[in-house]
Parts: sequence; structure tokens; C-alpha cells
Amino acid sequence: MTALSVKERVAIPRATMPMLDPAYRIHTSEEVNLGLSQEQAMVEASRCLDCRDPQCVTGCPVGIDIPGFIREIQQGNAAAAAAVLRKTSALPAVCGRVCPQERQCESKCIYNKMKKPPVAIGWLERFAADAERLAANRPEPERLAPNGMKIAVAGSGPCALSFAGDMAKKGYEVTVYEALHEIGGVLKYGIPEFRLPNSVVDAELDALQALGVKFIPDTIVGKTLSYDDLLAAGFNGIFVASGAGLPRFMGIPGENYINILSSNEYLTRINLMHAGTPGYATPVPRGARVAVIGGGNTAMDSVRTALRMGAEKAFLVYRRSEDEMPARREEIEHAKEEGVELMTLSNPVEYLADERGHVRAMRVQRMQLGEPDESGRRSPVPIEGAIDEIPVDVVVVSVGVSPNPLIPNSIDGLEVTRKGTIAVDENLHSSIPAIFAGGDIVRGGATVILAMGDGRRAAAAMDEFLKNTN
Ligand code: FAD
Ligand code: SF4
Repeated sequence: MTALSVKERVAIPRATMPMLDPAYRIHTSEEVNLGLSQEQAMVEASRCLDCRDPQCVTGCPVGIDIPGFIREIQQGNAAAAAAVLRKTSALPAVCGRVCPQERQCESKCIYNKMKKPPVAIGWLERFAADAERLAANRPEPERLAPNGMKIAVAGSGPCALSFAGDMAKKGYEVTVYEALHEIGGVLKYGIPEFRLPNSVVDAELDALQALGVKFIPDTIVGKTLSYDDLLAAGFNGIFVASGAGLPRFMGIPGENYINILSSNEYLTRINLMHAGTPGYATPVPRGARVAVIGGGNTAMDSVRTALRMGAEKAFLVYRRSEDEMPARREEIEHAKEEGVELMTLSNPVEYLADERGHVRAMRVQRMQLGEPDESGRRSPVPIEGAIDEIPVDVVVVSVGVSPNPLIPNSIDGLEVTRKGTIAVDENLHSSIPAIFAGGDIVRGGATVILAMGDGRRAAAAMDEFLKNTN
């Protein structure tokens, strides 16, 4: 493979991801993508031109050495590839599955300039990370001797997990407090099994526990345990990674009718509380016609989940066109293959109910695209008089999230921005010396890789701060 010329490398077609058949997968929660085989991964890796100035790296928010790990895969060294990934990414098996690669690393790959599909960086990342996870002799991470200092973490999503891992390796005693009964944040309660199996997240949690990280579920920092309680318990530093789990609604007439709920509630009931699984009593609205409002990853997860919960017709209602949808491209394609209808350039303006208060229809304003707005996307403009009534049985609202105000409101002197996020400096240090914060509680709803990168940066900064002040 190493002897291939550039011309030969460029002539190799991009790998095709093996996946479950749509007709089968809409009846199961099994993961849709099955992963590249060793042979496929090695061939795909040989497409990489090992560019002298690799632009793919500039597209990765945490600057993974992409040509470096791909080189190892090409030579058949999956474990060495995973080790390269681990230098920068705490959760490569997760990021390989959920990062929006088409807008990050892969969008910068030199193949795009040649009008060819980019190297499948995300699939290769997943391949290397899975090989490491499934290997019998997963390497033990190095850990410094205990330094006697204790750290509390509020939340257990990707930001908290990457922070906890780095701090444990640096010799701190780390305790992670999670409000819910399961550890993992959005990776567990939000992103469904068919896209990110729990076993992938559990393997990371096991590795953290092996490092000595303690996980305490069912504990709400700011309520069950106050900031003063944490200080009294002897914690030297506190990291807040409580995410942005507060759902937004549109505020339109009828939004309080029965069977209209947020995507957070819908997905949590199903993913975390097992609604629909035999043996569990958790209720969840079901119906033949399920409308999901929005065009992001959460909307896409909700609408595909609705199909798996038995909806005859599951459709997205999105006010812009398909090109502007913020969801990962792969999820949009998978949703369409599964029979999800994309009702684009449409915006609900009112819900109608039957005599018992159950939603029965929605009035939808048809839109057209106008000038670009501050996000750079063409803005949706209503077409006057173009309003249709569409019958629905269940509506899942997925139009964005806000930071949960509990921690920001419960700690005196903690500076908060106008958007309700915790204000931090470039080191993710808050206005209170003992508190650092990162992930969605600082950024608003963002991405797994950005949250994970914040966790790592905050760990380095808090370590520096505590070493200088203790
Ligand atoms: P979270 O993952 O939200 O974790 C925060 C945790 O803190 C939660 O478990 C919460 O229960 C806990 N908590 C809150 N308050 C307290 C408290 N007071 N005390 C203790 N614990 C508390 N991003 C991508 O990159 N790709 C995707 O494909 C993608 N898909 C998504 C799909 C869905 C359904 C959702 C909801 C989000 C998706 N995202 C995706 C966004 C991504 O998951 C988030 O940006 C990321 O999880 C943020 O990480 P975090 O650690 O900051 O917060
Ligand atoms: Fe390889 Fe593409 Fe990165 Fe060049 S830009 S090093 S071809 S992945």
C-alpha cells in the first residue's frame, strides 16, 4: 500500500459504510452503521495523501493529527492509530460516530478541491477507536501519584467525562455528580442507541472508573448538594459541565395541548427510561402521525425514534430548506432512507385539539427563502396566505435548548451571561476562583467535540491554577 502513487491513491473510490437495511432497522434500536472492516479501513486509509500542510487538521476543533492516525491504519496498526487519537480526543469512538465531519475535517480534505469525496476521516476514527475498545488488552492509561487534592464535577456528559479523565490522570481524586440516574449526559439520554450504542459509552465509563473516578448519580448540584456543601466536603476545585438541557418551545397557540412535548422529554423517556421496551411502564405519547419540529440532530433523532416506536408517518417540519438543515448529513440521508418525510419551508403557527384536549392538527405556514441572516443561511420568509392544516397525533418540538439555570442561579457571585450561560475567561475559569466551567453550559447547545475539547482545556487550566495556589 505504501508504494502507491498519488494518482493510484486518488483513483481509489471512497469506502461504503456497511449498514442495516432500512426495512429492518426501523423495527429495531440496533446501530445502523456497522463499521468498516479491517480491509476496508486499510484501503480507505490509503486514499490519504499525507498532505504536507494537512488542511483536515485545521477543520478539527481539537486539532487531531489526522494524517498521523490514518497512516497507522494504512499500515495495519489500529492500536497505534487509537493511541494517536487519544493524544487529543478523550472519546474517539463517540466522536467517530457523531461529529459533523462533513462540516469539519472532511470539508477541508484536499479531495474536495479535486471534486472527489473526501477521505472518510470519521469512519476511520471510529474504526481505530472500536478496535482499541474491543481489543482484549486495552492499554492502561498512565496516572500520576495521588496529589491529595479533591475535585467535584457537576454533570456527566462528554465535557465532564473528558475533564474527569484528565484530572484523574494528573493525580486528583475526582467525584462526578449527575442529576439523572444514569451517567453519560446527552450521550445516554439524548442520542439514541441506533446511532451511539450505550456499550460504547459504558466502555469509556469503565475506563474512567479504573482510573479512580467516582460517579454519584441522582444528585443535583445546587439542590441536593449546594456549593457550600461541596466546599465543606473539602473539594479544592469544582467543574461545572451541566449542559444545556432546558428545552425551548415556540410559544404558539395550542402548544400546551396533550401529546405535544419537547424532544428532550421524548428522547429521555425512551432512551433513559425505556418507554416502549417490554417490562418497563414509562408512558410516552404514540400515534400514527408524528410531526417533529426542527432540523437539527435532536429533531432527526426524534423523528427516527418515532418510526421505531411504530409511527405510520413520521415527518419533520422545518422552516428552511433541506440544504440549511443543521443535522449531520448522514442522519438526514438515513432518515430519508427510513421513510421520514421532510416537510421543508414550513413553520407551525397553531395547534388544534379534539374535544379532550389532544392535539389533532397543526396549521402550517408555508415559507420561501429570503436574504441570508446573521447565521449566513438564507432566512425563511412567510408566503402570505399560504397556510395549510395538517392532521397530527403527536408533536415533538425540537427547536433548540437553553442552559439549565439551576447552577447559575444557585451560586452567589457566579457571573452569568445574557444568554444564561456561565461566563468564563479563555481558561474556562469562572468569576469564582474554585469554579471552572465548560461545554454547553458555557457555549449554549453546541457539539460533543467542542464539549470534550473544553473538558480537556479546563483540566489543564485548573491543574495549573491549583498547583499555583495550593
Ligand atoms: P450534556 O451532555 O448535556 O451533559 C450535562 C449533564 O449534566 C446531563 O447529564 C445533566 O443531567 C447533568 N446536569 C445538569 N444539571 C445538573 C446539576 N445541577 N447537577 C448535576 N448534574 C447536572 N452533538 C454532536 O456533536 N453530534 C451529534 O450528532 C449530536 N446529536 C445530538 C442529539 C441530541 C438528541 C442532543 C440533545 C444533542 C446532540 N448533540 C450532538 C449535542 C451534544 O450532545 C452536546 O453539545 C453535548 O452533549 C454537550 O456536552 P456537555 O457535557 O456540555 O453536556
Ligand atoms: Fe489526508 Fe485529506 Fe488530510 Fe490530506 S487533507 S492529510 S488527504 S485526510
